Amino acid sequence: MDFELSDEHRLIRDTARRIAREVIAPRAKEVDETAEYPHDFFDAFRSAGLLGMAIPEAMGGTGNGILPLCLAIEEVAKYECGAGLMLVLSGLPNRPIVFGGTPEQQQRWLPAAATGETKGAFCLTEPDHGSDAANLETRATRDGDEYLINGNKVYISGGTVADYLTVFARTGGAGARGISAFVVDAHAPGVHVDRTDDKMGVRSVPTAHFSFQDARVPAENLLGGEEEKGFNTAMLTLNSLRPTVGARGVGLAEGAAAYALEWARERKAFASKVIDFEAIQFMFADMAIQIEAARNLVYKAAFLVDQGKYTRTHAHHLSIAKAYATEMANRVAFDALQVLGAQGYMKDHPLERHYRDARQLMIVEGTSQVQRVVISRAMIERDLVYG
Ligand SMILES: Cc1cc2nc3c(=O)[nH]c(=O)nc-3n(C[C@H](O)[C@H](O)[C@H](O)COP(=O)(O)OP(=O)(O)OC[C@H]3O[C@@H](n4cnc5c(N)ncnc54)[C@H](O)[C@@H]3O)c2cc1C
Repeated sequence: MDFELSDEHRLIRDTARRIAREVIAPRAKEVDETAEYPHDFFDAFRSAGLLGMAIPEAMGGTGNGILPLCLAIEEVAKYECGAGLMLVLSGLPNRPIVFGGTPEQQQRWLPAAATGETKGAFCLTEPDHGSDAANLETRATRDGDEYLINGNKVYISGGTVADYLTVFARTGGAGARGISAFVVDAHAPGVHVDRTDDKMGVRSVPTAHFSFQDARVPAENLLGGEEEKGFNTAMLTLNSLRPTVGARGVGLAEGAAAYALEWARERKAFASKVIDFEAIQFMFADMAIQIEAARNLVYKAAFLVDQGKYTRTHAHHLSIAKAYATEMANRVAFDALQVLGAQGYMKDHPLERHYRDARQLMIVEGTSQVQRVVISRAMIERDLVYG
């Protein structure tokens, strides 16, 4: 067992830390207020070569893996959680192509994604099917050399800035087995952005609602042929990226705790510094305990993914990391805000933003409840045994 980061990992972390401090931190408040997608953040990631980590080298990526991607996400999420999501999106629409695409399809889309020449978005959720994605209703019907896609996808992160969409649609019968995955040109006729959301947090990355009305997609954009393995591809993608959502939580919590600590060192109450009250000191101790626990879970989960352990056999470890780290972020953001008293409630400080942003993490890419479905099933079916 080796808990040390490699030189390569440290270099990636330090690169992300520099971008976080120089590019992201100065604009974190502004991008929350304007809710405008920060192309400058994306350009900084692109220039630093941080967008190909979730894509294997043989497919045109840098192939560093999910652990270094988590390290980078943690650094940027200390200042702006949406920047962490932007890095998650370097994997989310692309891992279905990694897992489900033919070599020809991988070469068609992944090299450009890895260099940041193009951006994708991941379209699974529908108005009536979020957690219950296996029953999605969007349909793809074969028409000669094309498919016609009809249906609706909602809350799609980065949808308005995407060049291509990874769309899960039904080609066969009911349930998970009838689902296929397609890569769809985001600007093709029949693909419409109906609206974007006015969100509580993570406002820098837009979420879009798409309707597909006889959207024509070339048959060669069906990932991996007609085997209808789309749902499995979606699940492998979500499993393998669970650590990255956890990393957004770890970074957010670290940023919130660090900010509150500096403030508590300066603020006076009852003729002493706020940091001198034991009640406050113990709040910081509790934050540190939880941050360390979450970080270790996330790094271990990322390590497992990089070993190829992201199928159902290991899914519970990935769910534990996602659930714990994202819930931890909410608790730490809550306490860090409390340390500042009234000031914590004001937009003059970043803590109310961290608090709003943290809330998203327990919902996206499988809610906390859905993670518990995975974890409890593993215990009941004896994939996770303590006795
Ligand atoms: C900001 C944001 C960005 C998003 N980005 C994307 C994206 O890029 N692509 C995409 O496809 N989707 C995206 N989503 C959608 C997200 O993945 C879903 O919202 C999520 O999976 C939950 O689905 P739902 O909202 O329909 O809730 P529902 O499935 O309707 O769940 C409602 C409640 O019931 C609980 N519940 C549901 N099923 C169970 C169960 N079996 N056991 C116990 N409790 C259960 C849930 O935990 C929740 O509390 C995004 C969502 C948000 C908020």
